[in-house]
Amino acid sequence: MSELTGLKALVTGGASGIGRATAELLAARGAEVAVLDLDPSAVDRPLRAHLADVSDDTSVRSAVAAAADDLGGLDILVNNAGIGAAGTVEDNADTEWHRVLDVNVLGIVRTTRAALPLLRASDSPAIVNTCSIAATAGLPQRALYSASKGAVQALTLAMAADHVREGIRVNCVNPGTADTPWVGRLLNRAPDPVAERAALNARQPMGRLVTAEEVAAAIVYLASPAAASVTGTALAVDGGMQGLRLRPE
Ligand code: NAD
Repeated sequence: MSELTGLKALVTGGASGIGRATAELLAARGAEVAVLDLDPSAVDRPLRAHLADVSDDTSVRSAVAAAADDLGGLDILVNNAGIGAAGTVEDNADTEWHRVLDVNVLGIVRTTRAALPLLRASDSPAIVNTCSIAATAGLPQRALYSASKGAVQALTLAMAADHVREGIRVNCVNPGTADTPWVGRLLNRAPDPVAERAALNARQPMGRLVTAEEVAAAIVYLASPAAASVTGTALAVDGGMQGLRLRPE
């Protein structure tokens, strides 16, 4: 028996990147896994896929209910779906603020609201939110994205407090720059994507990006019974980006 045998997990944004790696690792450790994503390519993968948009409450409610029916319950919710935004406060219009906060913050509220009654029936319930070092790092040109992830970290702590006596653990993982299709798309917009990737690697303390699999391993740990006493934490998986104060060479 693997450590997650018998547990049922739902991963939002599970069609790509960190969410996909998390869904695959949960399955490899023995969990029954469903993914919720708006990308139809999710259904091409050997995982139970439910197409839904986390910015649409009706779609979230029916996808969470269908996933739990499919799985026969729910023990683990990974709120991972998210989108990016570049710029300062002068660069993004209100409509863009509403759109990003609707996905990154309210998306978590919607899936969690739909999942809580199911999680209350579990013997080992856990929620893991994918946050970002942007929540606390003070990154330039990331005002909206950082505000959204700061809200995700605060929401994680508040949810952990609200549900601790019910035995529902809530944590978040804060990745640094992770090598996912999202980052690939950003690099491909540069005039020289290869040089841009080399420069990005050089800016990391470890000289390389974090992998999606490394972030997934942290999410799976927080979701698993091995983390039974861990709640209300933000676990950085950032290659030392935030914690280390390296002297310039
Ligand atoms: P990705 O673009 O590779 O995957 C994101 C997935 O979320 C996609 O499958 C997409 O279809 C889905 N998604 C987007 N909007 C959705 C919506 N409204 N409803 C349902 N699904 C939706 O991105 P990734 O790099 O794997 O990022 C995953 C999470 O990790 C995000 O929350 C992101 O903010 C966070 N993160 C990423 C990095 C990074 O450097 N890649 C760093 C820190 C945090």
